[in-house]
Amino acid sequence: PARGSLLLDVKAARKEFGGLVAVNDVSFQMRAGEIVGLIGPNGAGKSTTFNLVTGLLPLTRGEIRYRDDIVSNLTSRDIAQRGIGRTFQHVQLLPTMTVLENVALGAHLRGDFLPQGGVMASVLRLNRNEEKKLLREAAMQIKRVGLERHMYDEAGSLALGQQRILEIARALCGDPALLLLDEPAAGLRYKEKQALAELLRKLRAEGMSVLIVEHDMDFVMNLTDRLVVMEFGTRIAEGAPEKIQSDPAVLEAYLGS
Ligand code: ADP
Ligand code: MG
Repeated sequence: PARGSLLLDVKAARKEFGGLVAVNDVSFQMRAGEIVGLIGPNGAGKSTTFNLVTGLLPLTRGEIRYRDDIVSNLTSRDIAQRGIGRTFQHVQLLPTMTVLENVALGAHLRGDFLPQGGVMASVLRLNRNEEKKLLREAAMQIKRVGLERHMYDEAGSLALGQQRILEIARALCGDPALLLLDEPAAGLRYKEKQALAELLRKLRAEGMSVLIVEHDMDFVMNLTDRLVVMEFGTRIAEGAPEKIQSDPAVLEAYLGS
């Protein structure tokens, strides 16, 4: 997609869990080539919003458009195939498999949770050409994120910052135009956060759009083009990071939590 063109259009998205309104008529847009931060206190509805966009949860009401299509009622696999990649809040890796295998498997499963059993079976259903193609793409994405030195290391042996980058490599398989990252900087050391930010800037320079849920204010302030702020399921503010930083409603939401 051309830089600046409308990529994602979330229109009055609503999600209820029983009597709880986790996402309350939230609207926002994303354009090609921008990094947007979705911030807000714990329980604000950020992860649920992600799960609505990626098709992991059905909407109670509202509509989500990606490029020219309504994607609100598609499966997570279909949405991934249309070009939305994601990572999860909690690292989803197979620690005793190599970096390459983790990325290849993730590419094969495309946007679904990694199954706890039967992983090899899903691989074995591939013929040799398909497997080769998968490994080639996985290796390419591993190089793209700069993890090539660790290609054959066990995923569980990597530092947390590298594991997060490995998950990004997996989300990049299939060449999505939009990447959704759920708290990628959580628990990382300063240097690891810098490496992560550098990677995301590189991807943006390549034309990628990134929607990033984050708690770490410094991290999003220095990285994002725009912030969307949620509290109690509602969008309470939106704008440039410098503007959001001094927004009274935002300060209140953070101080009050
Ligand atoms: P955030 O990611 O901003 O911390 P979440 O989207 O995880 O917030 O959660 C928003 C609200 O929805 C919370 O009150 C949470 O307890 C609730 N919630 C999230 N997922 C579920 C679920 N599967 N079933 C019931 N309630 C849920
Ligand atoms: Mg969350």
